[in-house]
Amino acid sequence: MKAPRFAYARPASVVEALALLDKHRDDARVLAGGQSLVPMLNFRVAAPKILIDINRIAALSGIKITKSHVRIGALTRHVELERSAEIAKLLPLVAAAVPHIAHPAIRNRGTFGGSCALADPAAELPACALALGATFVLAGKKGERRVAAEDFFKGLYATALKPGELLVAAEFPLHKPGDVSAFGELARRHGDYAMVGVAAHGSAKDGLRAAFFGVCDRPKVVEADGVDGVLSKLGTDLAPRGDLHASAATKLHLAKVLAGRVLKELA
Ligand code: FAD
Repeated sequence: MKAPRFAYARPASVVEALALLDKHRDDARVLAGGQSLVPMLNFRVAAPKILIDINRIAALSGIKITKSHVRIGALTRHVELERSAEIAKLLPLVAAAVPHIAHPAIRNRGTFGGSCALADPAAELPACALALGATFVLAGKKGERRVAAEDFFKGLYATALKPGELLVAAEFPLHKPGDVSAFGELARRHGDYAMVGVAAHGSAKDGLRAAFFGVCDRPKVVEADGVDGVLSKLGTDLAPRGDLHASAATKLHLAKVLAGRVLKELA
């Protein structure tokens, strides 16, 4: 099938993009890497009247380090995260997760912001943002607002983004001495969306935060003092939903097996 008819705009700045988003509200969709949106258009799951292509807005792209955080621009491609020495050093959890996202051709175009704005429950980067306590920066006509990752993911493909808003970046707190992280997922083939995955981060002092993905309608955090604490809470705190790939009971079993393997690295 082909996409329904749509108008197309390619703003050169965030201000221009926000003016267009404000004008067209629910009729508009932002086009980033297009790796999810273009198939959605072709399958006619989405039928916006206008696409607002943000690919020419340089201010939305790139990785910046400040004294308190690592800021990842919404338009930063998955491949940039994968190849960044700064991400490998400062956000090893993100570095470990990115090679599991799809395949090289998709990572060349797909963006950090597109993945988080789409909020697929089986996606890797939203879970990393939750485990690492990231904050999302959202811009609208009236200015910017910041939303903690735990308040950003609202449900199946649903986020805190309002009509007229653009996801600009996410800010990840810098690691503290003693912080550790671990990542793993189970997928039918490498590059497929995960059946079950876990992104975990913490320290002996602050406890462990494990974000499970592919199990519920959004990434689900299980927190405890340490590895044993997280493992013992899975039966009660994690209530997986069955999907095309596995029943809820199978998913819970897989989550326990995966967590046992992955979190052991942290013990
Ligand atoms: P787009 O497709 O351009 O947009 C996606 C949605 O986000 C749209 O609704 C769009 O309007 C909105 N959006 C985009 N940017 C912004 C913004 N800055 N502000 C507000 N809204 C915005 N992903 C995974 O995480 N793991 C996988 O294993 C995986 N496997 C894949 C396998 C295949 C075969 C394909 C085709 C895709 C796969 N993906 C996977 C998805 C891929 O990571 C996409 O890149 C990602 O989901 C969307 O990013 P994008 O930049 O392409 O966004």
